[in-house]
Amino acid sequence: MKVAVFSTKSYDRTFLEAANTQSKHELVFLEPRLSCETSVLATGSQAVCAFVNDELNAQTLSKLESLGVKLIALRSAGFNNVDLVKAEELGLTVVRVPAYSPYAVAEHTIGLILALNRRIPRAYNRVREGNFSLEGLLGFDLHGKTVGIVGTGRIGTITAQILLGFGCKVLAYDNSPPDNKILEYVSFSELLAAADIISLHCPLTADTHHLINAKTIAQMKTGAMLINTSRGALIDTKAVIIGLKSGKIGYLGLDVYEKEGDLFFEDFSSAVIQDDLFERLLTFPNVLITGHQSFFTAEALKSIAETTLSNISDFEQGLPCSNQIKIQD
Ligand code: NAD
Repeated sequence: MKVAVFSTKSYDRTFLEAANTQSKHELVFLEPRLSCETSVLATGSQAVCAFVNDELNAQTLSKLESLGVKLIALRSAGFNNVDLVKAEELGLTVVRVPAYSPYAVAEHTIGLILALNRRIPRAYNRVREGNFSLEGLLGFDLHGKTVGIVGTGRIGTITAQILLGFGCKVLAYDNSPPDNKILEYVSFSELLAAADIISLHCPLTADTHHLINAKTIAQMKTGAMLINTSRGALIDTKAVIIGLKSGKIGYLGLDVYEKEGDLFFEDFSSAVIQDDLFERLLTFPNVLITGHQSFFTAEALKSIAETTLSNISDFEQGLPCSNQIKIQD
């Protein structure tokens, strides 16, 4: 099947080409992000392969359908960037990679917690300048601290397991918790009030948009650490900035940002960044941001490529695909 692969980076190409030696699809690698304007690049392709910041809104989907595209193959777990109602209306099948390496994201989450707590980026810069002062580097023991995990699916559960290994007390909140509750589940309000560290692992939906806002921040412990490796718009960035300025939020670790689509995955090191909210976040000494790299391990990329191509093969052969997204997902 001819597949237009949008937002291609060198690493996508490497892993997709390696996986394609078996599948033998015709992959057309395209660097631009998918939007209504760039959708014309999919002319002649039956499938479009897209990533997290590609815009699969109603306009783009209609354009793709008019070009003869039948399949949207996401190389991501999250699908908040796809208008599923429109896709169904147009008869477009949407598939994703629900699980690749949940360890990749969970381990990066832990990396953010440790780096923020022990001020590792600051220490790294200091030592390189010959400054061995410990002033301002004071951390806290993770052992004995209470961590609130919001969303206990694949990634949230592994994050919780790692934190239990550190000797943390883990509280969990999920709007649909599993029957076999291995974690201690509490209400969202109880979690906010009790947690020293809050880590977000739920998907971005209409219900979870700005889950962290002025009201919910007010319910947190003063000085709490907030970590988001899930999706940027779970957090109201303006409210978080106010929380950081007042000291209500003591630490902020982000791998995702609500307006990341205009920034992440590209090199703007020689440009003037126009996003003032993002730039304000960077001024805080207790904020650590990575550019949506939680998923970025060799194991995860291999798995993403293999599942994406097998999803495309299933569709081509008319087989049922368990990774097809239905509206109720
Ligand atoms: P999952 O589907 O296994 O788990 C999500 C959990 O969130 C489920 O248990 C669900 O019941 C729960 N949930 C849904 N709505 C909720 C709500 N309103 N309140 C509380 N809990 C709610 O998903 P996963 O594989 O663990 O991934 C979680 C999220 O991580 C994805 O949706 C994606 O956005 C994000 N992600 C980020 C990266 C990255 O590189 N930063 C990579 C992969 C996934």
